[in-house]
Amino acid sequence: MSHSKGRLFVISGPSGTGKGTICREILKDIRNEFSVSMTTREPREGEEHGREYFFVSHEEFIENINRNNFLEYATVFDNYYGTPKDIVLKKLEKGRNVILDIDVQGGLQVKEAMPEAVLIFLLPPSLAALRSRLENRGTETPEKIEKRLNKALDEIKFIGEYDYMVVNDVREDAVSDVRSIMTAEALRVPEKVLPIIRRYEQEQKGE
Ligand code: 5GP
Repeated sequence: MSHSKGRLFVISGPSGTGKGTICREILKDIRNEFSVSMTTREPREGEEHGREYFFVSHEEFIENINRNNFLEYATVFDNYYGTPKDIVLKKLEKGRNVILDIDVQGGLQVKEAMPEAVLIFLLPPSLAALRSRLENRGTETPEKIEKRLNKALDEIKFIGEYDYMVVNDVREDAVSDVRSIMTAEALRVPEKVLPIIRRYEQEQKGE
């Protein structure tokens, strides 16, 4: 990836770990943009079409799969979720960092398609903490909470495929950890180092 392009960051982790809150903090920096996913799930109270998700019908989602419009897609909790490819590529081209809040199945697909993507795994301090966060959120039935807790363990098993892990115990600390990862990635030596060397050579020659 050339230096002028933005970077792609995937944030995964069990539902209820606080990915949404952390992403909102990270997105206060105008260099970072969120990738709005498409989903077949029903909007929750307060969610807006085009802001949290593009809420579409099952048919529309399948149509987008057939047109190869997704960078990745997966079935999560009986619904389809997918990352619209063109929107992400355009944002990267404009030099923006793009943040994907997607599940592990999606994260692994992104790594396959774009190996330069940076994968961050957000962990809850414990399963008990995760359960109480899901209960306090009050958006899910007890049955759905059990489903999400089971999926949490399934997801954590894939942590070895990720580049970084952040434990979300104290929110401010987790946000600062994610920011540090983004800064470190921005400071990586780029693949093409010649322009950097040239710049110093020219300076030495007084050009
Ligand atoms: P929720 O229904 O709570 O908004 O999201 C459920 C799960 O789906 C979360 O783990 C979230 O990260 C994941 N998710 C959201 N959008 C996408 C997407 O585009 N692709 C994939 N693979 N997962 C997604």
